[in-house]
Amino acid sequence: MSDHGYFGQYGGSFIPEILYSSQQQLLKHYREAMADPSFIADVKREMQQYSGRPTPLTHCANLSAQLGGAQIYLKREDLNHSGAHKMNNVIGQGLLTKRMGKKRVIAETGAGQHGVATALISARLGLECTIYMGAHDIERQYPNVFWMKQLGATVVPVTTGSQTLKDALDEALRDWTSSFEDTHYLIGTSCGCEPFPEMVAGFQSVIGEEVKEQAMAQIGAMPDKIYACVGGGSNACGIFLPFVGTDTELIGIEAGGRGDGVGEHAKRFNTDQAKFGISQGYATMFLQDDQGQLAPTHSISAGLDYVGVSPILADLSDRGLVRMSSALDTEVVAAFKQLMLAEGIIAAMESSHAIAGGLREAASLDPSQNIVINVSGRGDKDIFTIAKALEDEPFKDFLRSYLEGQD
Ligand SMILES: *Cc1c(COP(=O)(O)O)cnc(C)c1O
Repeated sequence: MSDHGYFGQYGGSFIPEILYSSQQQLLKHYREAMADPSFIADVKREMQQYSGRPTPLTHCANLSAQLGGAQIYLKREDLNHSGAHKMNNVIGQGLLTKRMGKKRVIAETGAGQHGVATALISARLGLECTIYMGAHDIERQYPNVFWMKQLGATVVPVTTGSQTLKDALDEALRDWTSSFEDTHYLIGTSCGCEPFPEMVAGFQSVIGEEVKEQAMAQIGAMPDKIYACVGGGSNACGIFLPFVGTDTELIGIEAGGRGDGVGEHAKRFNTDQAKFGISQGYATMFLQDDQGQLAPTHSISAGLDYVGVSPILADLSDRGLVRMSSALDTEVVAAFKQLMLAEGIIAAMESSHAIAGGLREAASLDPSQNIVINVSGRGDKDIFTIAKALEDEPFKDFLRSYLEGQD
């Protein structure tokens, strides 16, 4: 798929020389594994028996009727074990770690979703697990930190820079330079040096492959449009890649946050605040200031709050094969609520970006058309954020009385 790790002008391998041999070793093992039917069978078995695949394609009759446009279908990645598409990737890389004979994995995490998924698969496969997480994120996402620790993982607070995801990624890379002999770096999204973008997108492509089969069986046609939210880009790559070059239009939705001001959003497309750059092991469009320093980001969803983006998506966008759009925090909360009340589905804040993008366009389409929206994860995890956004006073009272120890 890639040309020596390049997708157009994006991607590549910008890593310290000391990592070169372990990166080459990973590349070799990955290629061999993907050509080995027994490895593919192991991945498939874990996806079925551990994570519950295939996930359903759900028709939203009420929501479609409300909007009076296209038929809306949801790909239910929220029904994976751990509640998000992240499980697809950790199963693949976890099994690859075993195959390489390594006994330890390290990972970066922002909101903690990838950290929890990595800790889960590590417990199942008997791997040691260390998670790097920004100190600021640890404060904001303590429930996920709690579960990582309960699962036996070591959580290392990162206190450099903005103490968030990009700093955690740098720190994980630093660990890898001294630990690569027995450690695999289990990156959480379709970014980083070769072969990570292609490998993560590959393990996630099961999403789009299933949509193809399910669309044929349930609709009798391929969807006209597919929507996915874009953080690092792994759920979008996963659902898009099997459709690239077909008649299905592919639309990525980024975090529009509070607006276009610097630090108010996480849009790496359709903004002049993102420029071509090289950081964190690869080349892509990064949000950066005039000095080339990575810029701060904001999103109501912790998982879309990243300064870089998959080199695969940056290239597909350049080539006009994927259209990039965005949704504001306020639109996201409205779409979240509309879906929940119409269909009884609680989507993650990240996924609600894709829903906002899809609903915005569905109304102007014909009822004979079909769109698929990827629900990358479930929203239960967002209860604190959502209660705050919806200004739910009883929830505040509950938290207060819980802290005071009154049952
Ligand atoms: C992590 C996460 C995302 C963003 O990551 P991508 O690599 O862009 O897919 C989106 N949705 C959910 C539910 C997540 O946990």
